[in-house]
Amino acid sequence: MAIGEEIRKIHQMLPDGVELCAVSKFHDADAIAEAYAAGQRIFGESRVQELLGKTAALPADIRWHFIGHLQTNKVRRLLPAVALIESVDSEHLLEVIDEESAKAGIVSRVLMQVHVAREETKFGFLPEELLEYFRCRRFETLKATHICGVMGMASNTDDADRVRADFHSIAEVYRSIKEIAPDLRGFDTLSMGMSGDWPIAVDEGANLVRIGTAIFGPRQY
Ligand SMILES: *Cc1c(COP(=O)(O)O)cnc(C)c1O
Repeated sequence: MAIGEEIRKIHQMLPDGVELCAVSKFHDADAIAEAYAAGQRIFGESRVQELLGKTAALPADIRWHFIGHLQTNKVRRLLPAVALIESVDSEHLLEVIDEESAKAGIVSRVLMQVHVAREETKFGFLPEELLEYFRCRRFETLKATHICGVMGMASNTDDADRVRADFHSIAEVYRSIKEIAPDLRGFDTLSMGMSGDWPIAVDEGANLVRIGTAIFGPRQY
């Protein structure tokens, strides 16, 4: 099916209040332009160089989300180009983002990536680590960073019960943080769900889904 049709189909299926991040990594500017023409405005990329190249070639009202592992030496170049960094996976990275944002005179928006899936290689905070960060109110030292919520992934498996349990755990971390720090303003984004599992994620409370393959087809590595 054509990219534009897929975009429209997913928009129709998503409940009110759930946003779509179209994951365009490894797809070219023409593919993104097709999705844009169908009304899509949020796109997700996982590599800094690739994202920067695309921002230059595409309309300025696109809101770019960074969703990959971010190296600290690339933070400065990335910041002016992104609307949201969904994949903050360490306190050190958060500190660098905050320092660089302050220096640049901007406020950056981020999600904290939580790791619940079974795979060993995935990045992110363990749930208990993340709760500890908020319990100790270490976010109060941030000068130029707005923590807007949590991002997570389910285990890569066909076992729907496992996937649902993972999303449930991520949603619980999100709700616990709200309880621990009720004064955190604008902490309202729960990003979870990809091509193969997003309906379960939405069912478990996601209000931002990140869908690539179902829109653009297999990635062109
Ligand atoms: C690649 C990627 C996606 C999209 O995955 P699809 O299966 O192609 O929908 C979503 N989230 C993250 C963090 C990714 O790296």
